[in-house]
Amino acid sequence: MAEALYFLDCYLKEFEATVEKVTDDRFVVLDRTAYYPESGGQPNDTGKLVHESDGDEFDVLYAGKFNGEISHEIAGENISKGLKAGDRVKGLIDWTRRYRHMRMHTATHVIANVIEKEAGAQITGNQLGLDQSRVDFSLEVFDRGKFAEYERIANDIIARKIPVNLYLVSRKEAEEKLSRLTTLAKGFSDKIEEVRMVEIEGVTIEACGGTHVKNTEEIKGIKITKLQNKGKSNRRMYFTLVD
Ligand SMILES: [Zn+2]
Repeated sequence: MAEALYFLDCYLKEFEATVEKVTDDRFVVLDRTAYYPESGGQPNDTGKLVHESDGDEFDVLYAGKFNGEISHEIAGENISKGLKAGDRVKGLIDWTRRYRHMRMHTATHVIANVIEKEAGAQITGNQLGLDQSRVDFSLEVFDRGKFAEYERIANDIIARKIPVNLYLVSRKEAEEKLSRLTTLAKGFSDKIEEVRMVEIEGVTIEACGGTHVKNTEEIKGIKITKLQNKGKSNRRMYFTLVD
């Protein structure tokens, strides 16, 4: 598995790597990468790989995890003529897109935590987007009138400029830390030895592999744009970022 550089440094916009293989004339695996592969409700990064020796540029359309490997899908044809195993490349991340996803992801942790604590909701899923993001949750009594207050509480947390810490812990330690959140803690497979934690100091600690801003002030603010009843106790909330 390539070294995932985004894990502990979400602000890395450029990196150098060696091509490990090119498959189907389209998919490139590197020994290390800062590209976030689509997962956990966070979309993939896009950008460029630049060949170190001749300066040829290859557009990265998609990054995903396949068979435990992070693969970069390159635009165009005959990629393997220009890029082969052993070549050195510089990777450049489309920062506008990635940074928006970072703000969205940390914002999701904040607002999800507020509706868990204030409404007693149980989060069931999320999908980040550039324009708006979605949080799915289970909640018996759906009082839409209270969501303006939840938005206000979330914006208060954001305005408090709270540090966001990322670190790796052993699976055992993660299970202990998360014992309150039993649904999450039960999810770890025995094969996983280390778990990446995302802590918004004094607000929430979660096991999460996504990319985050380093302080809540970078989110600036959120606005809830839509609330939906999805039947039984399933609810859906959309929010956007306020610049
Ligand atoms: Zn997350």
